[in-house]
Amino acid sequence: MLNTISCGALRPDHVGATVTLAGWVHRRRDHGSLVFIDLRNRDGIVQVVFNPEQAVDAHETAETLRNEWVIQVSGTVTRRVEGTENPNLPTGEVEVMAEQATVLNESLTPPFYVNEETDVDELLRLKYRYVDLRRAGMRDTLITRHRVVSFIRRFLDERDFLEIETPILIKSTPEGARDYLVPSRLYPGSFYALPQSPQQLKQLLMVSGVERYFQIARCFRDEDSRADRQPEHTQLDLEMSFVEEDDILGLIEELYSDLVESLFPDKWVMKPFPRMTYTESMELYGTDKPDLRFELYMADLSDIAAETEFRVFQSVIANGGIVKGFRAPGCASYSRRQVDELTEFVRARGAQGLVSIALTGEKGPLSSLTQEMVRSSAARFLTLDQIRAIADRTEAEIGDIIFIIAGPPKPTNTALSYLRNEMGRRLGLADPNLLAFAFIVDFPLFEWSEDHGRWDAMHHAFTMPQSGYEQYIESDPGKVLAHCYDLVCNGEELASGSIRVHDRQLQESIFRALGYTEEQMEQRFGQLLTALEYGAPPHGGIAPGIDRLLMVLTGKDNIRDVIAFPKTQNAIDPLFEAPGPVEQDQLDELHIKVVDEGPETQSGS
Ligand code: ASP
Repeated sequence: MLNTISCGALRPDHVGATVTLAGWVHRRRDHGSLVFIDLRNRDGIVQVVFNPEQAVDAHETAETLRNEWVIQVSGTVTRRVEGTENPNLPTGEVEVMAEQATVLNESLTPPFYVNEETDVDELLRLKYRYVDLRRAGMRDTLITRHRVVSFIRRFLDERDFLEIETPILIKSTPEGARDYLVPSRLYPGSFYALPQSPQQLKQLLMVSGVERYFQIARCFRDEDSRADRQPEHTQLDLEMSFVEEDDILGLIEELYSDLVESLFPDKWVMKPFPRMTYTESMELYGTDKPDLRFELYMADLSDIAAETEFRVFQSVIANGGIVKGFRAPGCASYSRRQVDELTEFVRARGAQGLVSIALTGEKGPLSSLTQEMVRSSAARFLTLDQIRAIADRTEAEIGDIIFIIAGPPKPTNTALSYLRNEMGRRLGLADPNLLAFAFIVDFPLFEWSEDHGRWDAMHHAFTMPQSGYEQYIESDPGKVLAHCYDLVCNGEELASGSIRVHDRQLQESIFRALGYTEEQMEQRFGQLLTALEYGAPPHGGIAPGIDRLLMVLTGKDNIRDVIAFPKTQNAIDPLFEAPGPVEQDQLDELHIKVVDEGPETQSGS
């Protein structure tokens, strides 16, 4: 090794020792004739002092050093003079008196400061990712990510899971996204697809008798990017044989609560993890990924709204819509401007508008509420009794504001849930140290897709219907409940899983309900259908996203900040400039002809 100890490891115990360090020049300061270098490696920084009276050559070298040069220094560890300790550094009680210094490599001036956590343009950070990853924040995240994944591996190993790799070059494994395709050189016109998840492979491993499988698996989905999405993401993919829903949920609860306890002692989880049905979650929170760090519940006001003189409410109800709302505690004094701003907020998230009812005045029972105490654009359409009924249903008190949205169920719920999260944020209702894990269960097996005009699988096609519902699979798919569950945390979906179908006839019936022809079934899922006939055990699993988990654990709101080499939101790698053109030879070998889709070609065709 070019060093005898790591920079960040030095402590008063080492005083008197001769050490050799290697690392990057974090900062240089000249004080009179002394040169001070903060020398950095992965686990920390230590101060090195170059004194011309003790080491002429080393001092001369030190005078030439610039930030991010790589150097090797030998010297003696000494205690810092009293009053010059740096309590912000774990090594701050000591320094190294340099005797020898060697420049191992120089560095160009970095494109941004490594020694400051300043905001830097993300494209620049990604283009020089190797410099960006040296910065403390990114380095810490990489370390945290490693610890989390190591913990998971150890935990599962102790419980007899086998880590098994599955292929990256495979056939389409649908999870509701577009496939990434890889052309075959040997078979012109044929393609591999990168796995959207190892779903069928892990089920085949259960048929293979593996019983307990996991993998830190990369999944590839060609979807439009969002802040929490990447073309490739990592899942803890997990599958077990001879289990029921409770076994999987119990295992995951133990894994995540142990993980938080061991690695994030400042954070806490609610135990046992709350469990809620999909229907309850939609009713109370308007979403299937509720943020349970704060208690604001939504109430369906449709029946009260239907009785009012308010045209907006009436027409929404007449058209099969809903009227729903929740209270924002202590917000009765919200100004017109604040309400307008929130109206814009919900409009941008699919609502037609926002009705607010502020209950102003002296605190007291709802019976003390008078018309004068009500501030609302809809006030003249609502009787005092109706307002009291709305307040009662939403559990609002005098001093609160009630926010109400009317419209078709889906967008109304969506907009309300965004508003609920926004109010939670504005009012600081969430305990920043709480990781509010919860399980959402009893999802429907199918959901109607307006876009495709057919039933889609809500989770995926391999999900077991709950018993008693099999008969409706093809006759009334919307009715079927599934053995399907999600893990959510602080408003994020962290995992989805299910008990799987292990019977060929049942699996075919689900495929038929999804509109697959016999031929499509055979072509896409023949391998799985056949395997189900060779002694497939009952099995089930789950796949928690590692990137999202890291986001929640580290409080980052950008998925790119928890991945070493992510793609931009436009699916580009600015460092490698991928995707990029390839040589004509390579295309020829792959039997690929690129058709220029430029405007001219398009108009000409
Ligand atoms: N394969 C599923 C997914 O990627 C997870 C699972 O059902 O285990 O969402």
